[in-house]
Amino acid sequence: MTDQLVPESRVYRHRQCGEETTVGDQSFETVSNPMSSMERTYCSSCGAMFEISEFEWSDTGETIADYYARHSQNATPSQRFLTSKKFMLLVILIIALPAAGGAFVLLANSGMLVRLLGAFGGFIVGAFIGMMIFVEAFAKPITKKVCGVTDTRTLT
Ligand SMILES: [Zn+2]
Repeated sequence: MTDQLVPESRVYRHRQCGEETTVGDQSFETVSNPMSSMERTYCSSCGAMFEISEFEWSDTGETIADYYARHSQNATPSQRFLTSKKFMLLVILIIALPAAGGAFVLLANSGMLVRLLGAFGGFIVGAFIGMMIFVEAFAKPITKKVCGVTDTRTLT
């Protein structure tokens, strides 16, 4: 198995102003992911967000909206739901709310401020774990299955 070389950045053009924006790192991972359910992205020249249909990849001329549609055309409705932000929020809350409640109950002998801080800490830790579960158990494997690549930055 040969790992495809992962590019560090890609350039897209905002059709309205004609100016290019380079995306790298985390934002490149998100923008390149057809399953990210992203609807708007940033134009560095305008300094604002616009619909992804208004942007085209500079190297291919294809709009980001068309690129998403093309690479996600094989996704089933359940695959789309399981990679959506709605489902991500659901997983986070399913873990974070009981964690917050658990910490609150465990600290029953402490003062109210400590109990509330504990609940807040439990929520943050739970949200983090929920996020990891969403990414590792759902978003990554489903995206790989639908798009055929481990890293969507290798898609063109
Ligand atoms: Zn612009």
